[in-house]
Amino acid sequence: MTSLSDLPLRDDLRGLTPYGAPQLDVAVRLNTNENPYGPSAELVADLASAVSGMAAELNRYPDRDATALRTDLAAYLGHDLIAGQVWAANGSNEVLQQILQAFGGPGRTAMGFEPSYSMHSIIARSVFTEWISGAREADFGLDPDKTVAAIEEHRPDVVFLTSPNNPTGTALEIDVIKRVLRAAPGMVVVDEAYFEFARTGTPSALTLLPDHPRLIVTRTMSKAFAMAGTRLGYLAAAPAVVEALLLVRLPYHLSSLTQAAARVAVAHRAELLGMVDELRAERDATVDWLRGRGLEAADSDANFVLYGRFADRRAVWEALLAKGVLVREVGPPEWLRVSIGTGDEMAAFRAATQAVMEEVL
Ligand code: PMP
Repeated sequence: MTSLSDLPLRDDLRGLTPYGAPQLDVAVRLNTNENPYGPSAELVADLASAVSGMAAELNRYPDRDATALRTDLAAYLGHDLIAGQVWAANGSNEVLQQILQAFGGPGRTAMGFEPSYSMHSIIARSVFTEWISGAREADFGLDPDKTVAAIEEHRPDVVFLTSPNNPTGTALEIDVIKRVLRAAPGMVVVDEAYFEFARTGTPSALTLLPDHPRLIVTRTMSKAFAMAGTRLGYLAAAPAVVEALLLVRLPYHLSSLTQAAARVAVAHRAELLGMVDELRAERDATVDWLRGRGLEAADSDANFVLYGRFADRRAVWEALLAKGVLVREVGPPEWLRVSIGTGDEMAAFRAATQAVMEEVL
C-alpha cells in the first residue's frame, strides 16, 4: 500500500493534518457554530421544488456568473449595493481562497490578528502566500495604535480582520477598521461571517465600501442564515474586485442546484434569520452563567462563546463528550468554545459543565 509519505507531495504540505472539527454523532453538537434550527416544512418544500425545477436542466452548465443570485444577495445586504459589487462561491472559505488567489500569491504576504479563524492562514499557505501573525490584546480586542504599527511594519498585501472574530466572539469598533484601511497598502478583508449575531447598532464594514475601493466584506449563509449544508458564501466590494475574482474562479464553480437553493433561502430570509434574536439571548445567558460559575467567558457578538480557563482543556472536552456534549477545542490553550444551540441543548451543556466541574476540576 502506498502511503502519503511515498507520494511526491508538495514539501510545505508534508506532515500537516487536515483542518476540521471532529464530526461525531453525539446528542448535543455545539462545535461548528451552526444554527441549530433547521428549515420549516414549508421552506423544505420550496427548496425541493426549486431544486427539482432545476433538475430538468442539469445537462446544461449553470449561470457561471450567478447573476440572479448575486442580485438577490445585493438586495439582502442593502447599502445600495448592486449585483456587480457582490460575488458568491461555495462557502465563504472558497470566497477567501479566490481573494488570496487574486491578491496574494508567491512573494506576497497576508496578515491576520490571532487568535482568529485559522483557515485564513491555511488558505494563504495553500496559495503560497506568506502568513504574518499579528497579536490581540488580553481581552482579544485589537489595540488601534499597535494594529496600525504592525501593518506599517510588515506592509502586507492582504489584511484580514474578522468581526465578530472566531473563536473569540469579539467584534471590532468601526474606527479600528477605518484606521486599518488608511494604513494598509493592499487589500483589506473584513470577514463578517457572524455579523448578523452582532449587537443591534454594530455598524457593518459594508458602510465603508463607498470610500474604500480596496475593502472586501465577506459573509456566509452557513451561520445566521441556517444554511451551512448549502455551501454558500459571498462578498461585497468594488466592481473591480469582482472583476479580479473572475480571473481566478473555476468555470461554473457554483452549481445550478446551489444557486437555486440559495435564492430560495434569500427569499425566505425572514424565517431563516428569525431565530437570531433568540440565539443572541441564549448567548448572553450562557456568558452570564459561565461567569456565575467562576469561569472566564469572552464578550461575544457571535453565536458562540469562548470560555475557560482550564489547565487541561482536553480533559474537560473529553468529559463533556462522555456526557454527550460536543464543544470545540480551539483558540488559546486554556480555552474551549461552545456554539449556541437550542434552549434544550444549552440546558444540557450547563448540566454537563456543572457535573464536569465537580468531577474534573
Ligand atoms: N469565516 C469565519 C470567521 C468562520 O468562522 C467560518 C466558518 N467557521 C468561515 C469564514 C467559513 O464558513 P463557510 O465556508 O461555511 O461560509
